[in-house]
Amino acid sequence: RRPADCPPDVEELGRATWTFLHTTAAYYPEKPTPIQRANMLALLKSIPMLYACKPCGNDFGDDMSKNPAEKWVGSRERLSWWLCERHNEVNRKLGKKEWGCGIKEMDARWKDGPEDGRCE
Ligand code: FAD
Repeated sequence: RRPADCPPDVEELGRATWTFLHTTAAYYPEKPTPIQRANMLALLKSIPMLYACKPCGNDFGDDMSKNPAEKWVGSRERLSWWLCERHNEVNRKLGKKEWGCGIKEMDARWKDGPEDGRCE
């Protein structure tokens, strides 16, 4: 293991970024205001341009062009699903396991914890 105070590599940056994005989606409003929608769209669209791993950002931008976020920022459930599918696209590329993207799976992982209470 690399010491914790080293700069993040692609994997560590990825884990931190997915944690931020999925958690933000999990706490996004059920009925976002136009300003909240616009800010969420701006956040997502900034990734292809600004993400520190450039090939990652480029591929994410290609995927977002095929699956525009505009249609999915209308509610917490829709956004959580869309983001999970984008993460699965990267998982497929890297040969990692795909996730079920229903709101139950997403909330158990990113908001409420599993039903057996082991995260409490
Ligand atoms: P991660 O994929 O980081 O996932 C973290 C946790 O999220 C998992 O432990 C799991 O509990 C949960 N999870 C997994 N899948 C889902 C899902 N679909 N929905 C919700 N939760 C889920 N790496 C590269 O090598 N090449 C790339 O091109 C690349 N592109 C990336 C693009 C973006 C926008 C981001 C944010 C990251 C990218 N990464 C890329 C990093 C890569 O996705 C992983 O973060 C990294 O490989 C570490 O993987 P991990 O197995 O620890 O889990």
